[in-house]
Amino acid sequence: MKDFFDTTYAELIELCRPWSVQHAKAIFRSLYKDYSLEPLNAPSLPREMVARFSEQFYLNTADIYQESVSRYDGTVKFLVRLADGALIEAVLMPERSRITLCVSSQVGCAQACSFCHTGRMGLKRQLTAGEIVAQLMLARRWIRAHPQWREERGFHEKITVNNIVFMGMGEPLDNVEALKRSLTILCETIGPNLSLRKISVSTAGHLDGIKNLLEAFPKVSLALSLHATQNRERSQLMPINRRWPIADVIAYLKEFYARANDDDRSVLIQYTVISGVNDAEEQAQGIVDLLVGLPVKINIIPLNVVGPSQFKGPEPEALERFRDYLHRSGFRVMVRYSKGQDIDAACGQLVVQHEKQAASESISRA
Ligand code: SF4
Repeated sequence: MKDFFDTTYAELIELCRPWSVQHAKAIFRSLYKDYSLEPLNAPSLPREMVARFSEQFYLNTADIYQESVSRYDGTVKFLVRLADGALIEAVLMPERSRITLCVSSQVGCAQACSFCHTGRMGLKRQLTAGEIVAQLMLARRWIRAHPQWREERGFHEKITVNNIVFMGMGEPLDNVEALKRSLTILCETIGPNLSLRKISVSTAGHLDGIKNLLEAFPKVSLALSLHATQNRERSQLMPINRRWPIADVIAYLKEFYARANDDDRSVLIQYTVISGVNDAEEQAQGIVDLLVGLPVKINIIPLNVVGPSQFKGPEPEALERFRDYLHRSGFRVMVRYSKGQDIDAACGQLVVQHEKQAASESISRA
């Protein structure tokens, strides 16, 4: 059986061809414009085709297992349950005039970054492209069903998710084929109609995946989690650095963006500041040395510690010094605080909490 959300428009056209290719348009409209969960109920579909498609297709909608809305900034965190019961996270982030959705690309993650909740789970499985698209449609349906949430933020009635960041659970480039397929579907004009420039793929530094992705989608935005510039420190925080040292990743990106020759484009660098680990002037200079010549915007994010951790967030003065150093060195730099701090919106927190709770319930039942 095929999942409708996992099907590109071109594939659907081919499948509809024995009847009429126009039916592909009706199905896509029903799915992506009317948010129907029964796309085969679209008017005008021939009965024989509906009967055939009912045997071939299903719609893997995913459902909201738990939702939390931040009282501070309206961020909504969804714990999403997939058809096999696996839980992932998706986070809706309202800003002034746009809504961004942070999606997951894997259940868990194999990369084991030492500061990350999801990394502690290990990789449970890959998501399909359809399960990635389903997160967008679930969020769009939620927005439409919550007029009060929209009104409180001053959004007009027709506002919907128009930006996507692949910064939820998982390293998207460890699932690059499903990622690329999802990008094709997300950008179908007759479908979700997102623009590639409004989709940002975040990576811990998966060089083979970056090459593969940018070759297929050179206009997609890239975000790189940096967190340290020296191999010894970075490999401790992010084991992926042992396979693809950061200098190699940056060298490739410099060459790619020089070739692209587009002044509007830059790589978003994310640098989580951890007290006593990567918040000294020496490390700020390391960023300058590494990134000079690459068009970047740098977001520095004070570590948001929840629960027991060997790490701690930076002192406000240290954070300010760090930001000013980069700023003086000519970089565009912003301090970003984790959204929805009152709802545990950092990646992996909700799933890990849920798993712990489930484990303790099963122990107490035993
Ligand atoms: S930070 Fe990203 S790549 Fe690293 S373990 Fe967490 S989800 Fe995986």
